[in-house]
Amino acid sequence: MEPYDPPTGAASTLVTNIGSLVTNDPAFGEGPLGLLTDAALLIDGGCIAWAGPAAKAPSADEQVDAGGRAVIPGFVDSHSHLVFAGDRTAEFNARMSGRPYSAGGIQTTVDATRAASDEHLHGVVERHVREAFRQGTTTLETKSGYGLTVADEARAVSVAAAHTDEVTYLGAHLVPSEFADDPGGYVDLVTGPMLDACAPYARWVDVFCEQGAFDGDQARAVLTAAAARGLVPRVHANQLSYGPGVQLAVELGAASADHCTYLTDADVDALAQGSTVATLLPGSDFSTRSPYPDARRLLDAGATLALSPNCNPGSSYTSSMAFCIALAVREMHMTPDEALWAATAGGARALRRTDVGRLSPGARADLVVLDAPSHVHLAYRPGVPLVSAVRRAGRPCEGARPGE
Ligand SMILES: [Zn+2]
Repeated sequence: MEPYDPPTGAASTLVTNIGSLVTNDPAFGEGPLGLLTDAALLIDGGCIAWAGPAAKAPSADEQVDAGGRAVIPGFVDSHSHLVFAGDRTAEFNARMSGRPYSAGGIQTTVDATRAASDEHLHGVVERHVREAFRQGTTTLETKSGYGLTVADEARAVSVAAAHTDEVTYLGAHLVPSEFADDPGGYVDLVTGPMLDACAPYARWVDVFCEQGAFDGDQARAVLTAAAARGLVPRVHANQLSYGPGVQLAVELGAASADHCTYLTDADVDALAQGSTVATLLPGSDFSTRSPYPDARRLLDAGATLALSPNCNPGSSYTSSMAFCIALAVREMHMTPDEALWAATAGGARALRRTDVGRLSPGARADLVVLDAPSHVHLAYRPGVPLVSAVRRAGRPCEGARPGE
């Protein structure tokens, strides 16, 4: 974390000599990123109290020199699957040797997760939350979905809730093998006793709407049942094939439709006209040698985009938002500005948060200092560990809950 090391415990801290500051607030700087150069930020009470030119900065109890580095909002990761056990290195190795990815690989992780202790699962989540934080992610959603029994799903959301407030109930991740001949019976479980057990721990409900997982009618049943219990929908949609997921998400007012790789014109129009964010997960496409979603088509149509690593042990075992920004720019033809916005403000939209994903007054002081003069370096220097300091609510984040 050297050399930037702001003091903690001060009533107010001025971070000054910021070479390039992304506020994500057009009222405070240039363009959609609200970009300022030679800038300063005042942190007070864990929040941003002031942002503007360094020459006009107010005084503070303590002052920190950013040394001309870039400062960006902490990344907002709206899609991860961290409550898991087991190892799928061999599956990845086989896939890289020519075997295609299919939804069924999830069952491998389900078996290992059911067999794991609570303590083990807590350790896995904590390790990955810290790993993400070190790379600049200060808000992080995570899902159940590797339990797939009432008790194991309830345990998964309970474990997740110990580490973040952005918890998603994903009982409808896959029809488990014991229900292979009775998928309708499994949907009844997901919309009945499993929902009863999980709803108290979760803010969101998600469903894997895909061939080999849940069809449109099943997905609708799951989302509407959970919505009636106050959970807000999000949908794994159109990842591996064309299908009803995206339009179902928009129709039900889902916060986000995630993946969005195989889209018809009607799907694109629905996303452009609705309030549902299209969350693109290029780490999955990278790690499964699959086509990337057409980000330019979505942006040109007027859709709102988020980016997430989709950290999970099967299809995308990376927690690096910077890597996803590089992929979004190189492979999906997003501009560096669009990718940075999607990884911060876009993620906040996908989680319906207004307190994160920006660095203007009133926001939580979640910030990343880059060992670079500009956020463009995140794509320009792929794979380089540019994150030199991370603060969440103005503080270093060891042990903090990233979803709060
Ligand atoms: Zn996912």
